Amino acid sequence: MTNLKFTDLGLKETLVKAIDDLGFITPSPIQAEAIPVALEGIDIIGQAQTGTGKTAAFGLPLINNLTVKNAIGSIILAPTRELAIQVHDELVKLTKYEKLNIVAVYGGAPIHIQARDLKKANIVVGTPGRVLDHIRRGNLPLSSIEFLVLDEADEMLNMGFIDDMEEIMKSIPEERQTMLFSATMPPQIKKLSKKYLKEDAKHVAIARKELTGSTITQNYFEVNGSQRLEALCRLIDLDNPSAGIIFCRTKKGVDELVASMQAKGYMVEGMHGDMSQIQRIKTLNKFKNGSLKFLVATDVAARGIDVDGVTHVFNYELPQDIESYVHRIGRTGRAGREGTAYSIITPKEFGFLKQIKNVTKSNIERKQVPTVQEIYNAKFKIMTEEVSSIIEAEDYSKFVDIATELTQTHDSVKVIASLLQSQFKNQLSFDYSSDKLESPAKVKGDDVRLFFSAGRRDGLTIKTLISYIKNNAKVGASQIRDIDIMENFAFVNVDNSIHRQVLEKCTGGKINKRRVNVEVSTNNKKKSRNRNRSEEHTSELQSLAYLVCRLLLEK
Ligand code: ADP
Ligand code: MG
Repeated sequence: MTNLKFTDLGLKETLVKAIDDLGFITPSPIQAEAIPVALEGIDIIGQAQTGTGKTAAFGLPLINNLTVKNAIGSIILAPTRELAIQVHDELVKLTKYEKLNIVAVYGGAPIHIQARDLKKANIVVGTPGRVLDHIRRGNLPLSSIEFLVLDEADEMLNMGFIDDMEEIMKSIPEERQTMLFSATMPPQIKKLSKKYLKEDAKHVAIARKELTGSTITQNYFEVNGSQRLEALCRLIDLDNPSAGIIFCRTKKGVDELVASMQAKGYMVEGMHGDMSQIQRIKTLNKFKNGSLKFLVATDVAARGIDVDGVTHVFNYELPQDIESYVHRIGRTGRAGREGTAYSIITPKEFGFLKQIKNVTKSNIERKQVPTVQEIYNAKFKIMTEEVSSIIEAEDYSKFVDIATELTQTHDSVKVIASLLQSQFKNQLSFDYSSDKLESPAKVKGDDVRLFFSAGRRDGLTIKTLISYIKNNAKVGASQIRDIDIMENFAFVNVDNSIHRQVLEKCTGGKINKRRVNVEVSTNNKKKSRNRNRSEEHTSELQSLAYLVCRLLLEK
């Protein structure tokens, strides 16, 4: 299987050439399984997620075997207009060396223009509602149909198209070949395939593990509800994704998040069902060509998003159901590329996340929201790399004289810092709304760092503190560690699972006559509060400059 080539599948020369032009080297698993069977004229029921190459899996055999040349020979049904357009575009590429006319039809666009285009069509791709509309108006004759494809049948079901799908399947002459693809097989879809596909239809399924894409790294971050935005921004600032989709549950949620992110200066736009089709296509195109880095979308709107090169998926809120989670993260790591999926959850959502983990058998690991220091470090690294590559690869001889002059009149670190400032301003422009997430309370793994308002002057020792916690909270000494006793207070790490218990039971008690207050520690290393932001920036820039200089000198 691994060495299988497209030339081994029995496709004609022109198709192999078109595939070659597209840069496909080996068939994906679903293609390898479905194409040879479909070429023999056998009906297919294919189960595979997005990003597995289904379009070519049905498109190639269909184009290969289509005999009708002056009528509509094939109908492909897709759940949304965006998906219909995407299938259309992919088929256009695959038919590069064929004389076949492919037309996409969907709601929200003028029906008479589509009717006119349908007169010259060989392959029609459309949403069920609009396709049925054209059939009823007599714009779409069915007598010559050789192929019917249902792409993402479960999604069409979700979008309420089940009756339309059945109506279309019923109306098309029986001697056609049918291919039905679906990520999941709900009963209604099973029923439909039993009723309208041939008895010898071949089931082709790609194992679940392959579906959820082992190329996608999945992590989750636990925060309070009010820290979601902060956490999202930090994750973005740390990873600097080139293209990311951020998911919200509701349209209102999308609008609100877009507004907050735009206010912070992120290149982001929303995508949901209340937007006009033109607006949606415009946004999607910007996202595709890279002039827009982030899309905020609802689950429904995202079904139409089928863009390669999405490096990150963010679950700003978890979806309603597990299937949607799989769908969401399937927007990244496409065609074997690597992807990252981050879920930001509140403690309440942990149970559902666990369920997602179990059902999808995926390894969703817990991580801590990055601290500002970590983000700075990451940015420093990027900037240093960029500067180093300029030094190595570019010709800057024209600037050497000016540089010499500048460094003679100013401190060279200041010179470099000011140039870095003008070059990388945006890199350090992040402005977090709070420092709540700073030096996070959760220290390592599942530890929580707690603050005790008693210290050395109260006669507190490591031993007395451990026994105080043990006696009051009824926990074992093994769950208590990393104790720091200061003059007036103390810090201690406890297991996350018992930290609430410790908080509750140890607050209000007395250690050597002092009444003790216990809190989750939010700020171990308090920064001086009265330094203003620009001062902070200058000093950060200066330390960056030192860092760059040092790294450069070391070379
Ligand atoms: P699906 O319909 O399963 O979501 P697509 O058919 O849209 O997947 O394919 C996803 C992406 O992978 C597309 O950009 C497509 O061009 C690309 N692709 C499909 N088959 C191959 C292949 N065999 N090798 C490399 N890329 C492929
Ligand atoms: Mg598809």
